[in-house]
Amino acid sequence: MHESPSSYDPRAVERKWQARWEERGTNRVDLAGAGRPFYNLMMFPYPSAEGLHVGNLYAFTGADIFGRFHRLRGYDVFEPLGFDAFGIHSENYALKVGVHPAELMPRNIARFGTQLRRAGLMVDWRYAVSTADPTYYKWTQWVFLQLHKAGLAVKKRAAVNWCPACKTVLANEQVVGGFCERHPDTKVEQRTLDQWFFTITKYAERLLDSLARLDWSSSTRTLQTNWIGRSEGAELVFETPGGERITVFTTRPDTLFGATYVVLAPEHPLVEALTTAECRADVNAYRRRVAAIDIVTRRVGEKEKTGVFTGTYARNPATGESIPIWIADYVLMEYGTGAIMAVPGHDDRDFEFATRFHLPIVRVIAAPGGDALAPMESAEPDVPDGRLVNSPGYDGMPWEEAKRAITRSLEEKGLGRTVVNYRLHDWCISRQRYWGPPIPIVYCDSCGTVPVPEKDLPVVLPKLADYRPDDTGVSPLARDEAWYRVPCPECGRPARRETDVSDTFLDSAWYFLRYPSADRPEVPFDADLTRKWLPVTSYIGGNEHAVLHLMYARFITMALEDIGLVGFDEPFPRFRAHGMIVKDGAKMSKSRGNVVVPDRYFDQWGADTFRMYLMFLGPYQEGGDFRDAGIVGIRRFLDKVWGLVEGRRHGGTGARGHGRAGGRADERASGQADELRRHLHRTIERVTEDTEALAYNTAIAAMMEYVNALQKGEPTPALLEPLAVLLAPYAPHFAEECWERLGHGSSVMDASWPEYDPALAAAEQVELVVQVGGKVRAKLTLPSGTPEAEAVAAALAEPAVARILDGKAPRKVVFVPDRLVSVVP
Ligand SMILES: [Zn+2]
Ligand SMILES: [Zn+2]
Repeated sequence: MHESPSSYDPRAVERKWQARWEERGTNRVDLAGAGRPFYNLMMFPYPSAEGLHVGNLYAFTGADIFGRFHRLRGYDVFEPLGFDAFGIHSENYALKVGVHPAELMPRNIARFGTQLRRAGLMVDWRYAVSTADPTYYKWTQWVFLQLHKAGLAVKKRAAVNWCPACKTVLANEQVVGGFCERHPDTKVEQRTLDQWFFTITKYAERLLDSLARLDWSSSTRTLQTNWIGRSEGAELVFETPGGERITVFTTRPDTLFGATYVVLAPEHPLVEALTTAECRADVNAYRRRVAAIDIVTRRVGEKEKTGVFTGTYARNPATGESIPIWIADYVLMEYGTGAIMAVPGHDDRDFEFATRFHLPIVRVIAAPGGDALAPMESAEPDVPDGRLVNSPGYDGMPWEEAKRAITRSLEEKGLGRTVVNYRLHDWCISRQRYWGPPIPIVYCDSCGTVPVPEKDLPVVLPKLADYRPDDTGVSPLARDEAWYRVPCPECGRPARRETDVSDTFLDSAWYFLRYPSADRPEVPFDADLTRKWLPVTSYIGGNEHAVLHLMYARFITMALEDIGLVGFDEPFPRFRAHGMIVKDGAKMSKSRGNVVVPDRYFDQWGADTFRMYLMFLGPYQEGGDFRDAGIVGIRRFLDKVWGLVEGRRHGGTGARGHGRAGGRADERASGQADELRRHLHRTIERVTEDTEALAYNTAIAAMMEYVNALQKGEPTPALLEPLAVLLAPYAPHFAEECWERLGHGSSVMDASWPEYDPALAAAEQVELVVQVGGKVRAKLTLPSGTPEAEAVAAALAEPAVARILDGKAPRKVVFVPDRLVSVVP
């Protein structure tokens, strides 16, 4: 009891509490017995060899604060974390360093685990998962089988992006300007391969419609909306003299009279039949050339328009005129019907194409009073208040009305119908790689495609010494004959396994279902636990996963719900995207050499200081700029709190409190105590509201102001204990230590979040004297701390003051905060 005040030693404090949390099971939650479940999810990391990145830590710390805050508010918070260990990143890295991924990954995971424990996260590690563990991917394969049974997993031939350096298929998002995201010098090619797809497009409408019901960051919702890309339009039929019917999709059927030619994607199945003998050589050469260009370049490319004429004409169903049929690579097979009606007068790309190939350009929409026959200098896609021209039967009709009218008229002739189109494509889940879960399918010459029976899961990934991908487009698994050749599960005759593995996004599309049941080897997810803990209460993660991970997880959940397996169709009713941190204004990257490695900061400053510093960089949902210089300010703040707690214990500043001095000193002390109490309640209010809103930086600022006030006053336990609890989400080890030093035997995480009294939290009202020319003319009652501009405006608005000034501006105004506004007329 007679030890002298110590100084704050983060290393000792953090070690002590990490050990004690482990011992006491502080971070464990009783999943079956919990009364107020709160599932606090954060995006699990890919365990790279470099170890935890400060960007990971930024994400996790913000989510951890939110989880701890809710636990202190009386919830049973489940905060699991795992590892996204399969996938091409891991495999490529393993290839580079020459260590087998099956050995490399456990090492990386162990390293991450150590770092994450140091960070002081409230993770219940009993429920950690690794997607590369057979106890996990057994169920990833099971998910595939459920979708297969439901007809949502199909195999089809498809044109795909192929990176010759990765030797694998790339998603469209991995192609940047025609080059591989990972190999900026390698041009991506187009290949046609047999692939497994999940038919997510069947869910396009539902994925879009139910977005409106989700409490998500609006930026994330917008990204998903655009990705799904719904457009309303019409399918119209252009007939040829030979009896072929070319169906085009258009969002602007009102411009039909301006359609002067038709364009098919070079891959369109009708191209063969439509091409005339004279044009065949040109058409074939063009088709070969296009096959060498990747899809993304075709989709976004700002390059010069190319194309060739097929030699055949089609009939415009509105004008009855014969218009030429071309093929061009700016039309994609995957969008709409793979054919368009070209309206050069009102579409930029069509205008460019028509100009280059001397095709007619006709104006069919004009502003009221506009010249219908004036030549067009450029396409006019949007004509304000546009009405139809050069469209017999519809001239003068507003274009929106004409959309419906023209579609209806073609519908009657069997040449058109209203349709909705989506930009979303089916999800290709096949990867011709090694490091992933084998797709559980067997091919038998007599039975065909046979799913592996559930009782035979997992299909274990064999340990291949040579797992390098090659240029055949076939997975390295095909080289392992012993693994590859199996008896057919149905007839027992010799058969072959599917050698593709599944996309790593499938691993993460269902992991939130697995966590609560991670200790249950016999089921993918326990029905009771799922009902109790899901959907996820709060999900925090990066917006870079807005269109892939979040979309896929929503789709898998909807599919499993339709199969009758989950009981809800949206996994994440609440999602918040955190911001990014940059270093000295630049994005962190290895090549710039400006990546912040957390360990060094843990060593030098302690995890608590580092956590708080990261959160103090800026609004959590916007991110911030990491500069080493600022971190000392947070450390000083914690030192101050430490000093107050220690001073309290050792009677340092406590001496003044036992007021025998009497008289004015007592009065002053009690006035000061009242003000501190009000400040405490204001602080609780601000920290509560800001933490709930993820405005962690301003919550920290409020605590700093309060601590500065405490330093000038009398920090009683009643003023310090709530502070320790407010700090617990932000600086958990530190708060535990303070809590203990303030005389508590149990964890601060078992305390309750302090309540505030709104009356006390409200700013104190003060009376300001208003003088004009030195004479008191009015008195104002305003909240304490009212800023000058507001107080002066209120003073000038007082009738007695306004009368004297008589509309003139005062020559001078003197302002004394909370006291006086003195006006010189
Ligand atoms: Zn590549
Ligand atoms: Zn068979």
